[in-house]
Amino acid sequence: MKILVTNDDGIHSPGLWALARAAAAFGEVNVVAPSAEQSAMGHAISVYHPLRLKPFGFSPLPDIPAYTVTGTPADCSALGLYEFGADVVLSGVNLGSNIGHEIWHSGTVSAARQALLQGVPGIAFSTIASETADPDFELLAPWLSRCLDVLLLLLPQERLLFNVNLPPQPQGLRWAEQSTRHYFARRQAFTTPNGKVAYWFDVTPEVDPQEGSDRWAVEHGYVSITPLRMNLTAQRQLAGFREKVDFGE
Ligand code: MN
Repeated sequence: MKILVTNDDGIHSPGLWALARAAAAFGEVNVVAPSAEQSAMGHAISVYHPLRLKPFGFSPLPDIPAYTVTGTPADCSALGLYEFGADVVLSGVNLGSNIGHEIWHSGTVSAARQALLQGVPGIAFSTIASETADPDFELLAPWLSRCLDVLLLLLPQERLLFNVNLPPQPQGLRWAEQSTRHYFARRQAFTTPNGKVAYWFDVTPEVDPQEGSDRWAVEHGYVSITPLRMNLTAQRQLAGFREKVDFGE
């Protein structure tokens, strides 16, 4: 099995190498990651400037070919697939969760989703990180392997996008749905050193997430695994609108 590993935190992230190390037990791995931090880029792609793909000379895993791309996570996934091919694209492990609303702006999930757009299944991995300490990837390594064990077996039948989130100290795995409870989005205003007003976005999820959701699972110490759809159509409403409004054309 050929595996492409990418992320949105950039080539130097310990999460990228933890995932590459876990993936190496399952097949032939290529790492193609952004040359700089690209978190919260969503599914942006570079269309107005060229991209460079360069061998990365400082890999902690010298047996695994690794490259940097001067672009977004989706660029890395796309270019990695064109250049090296893969049976699956793994993205992460992101230093920070990608649950509920976070899925919309996640570069990690978008890199995995780009794979689907090119006919290849994708799996996004994320974990909780604090400002002061990296996640304990030695502790998480067997959980990454467990997820890959389950999901790589499912992929030939289900060409899906999977979103996986790991709590700091997992105690089990759970199938989970995307949490859609509202969240508090705050706009913080502050004064810059030269006296101008500037703004900073801050998001606080609602407490008490619904049971069975990704946020609930991670808050209760479980690794959440969520299959995501590519087709965003509100099917029930579409059928209703087709009944109700006839354009007569
Ligand atoms: Mn990130």
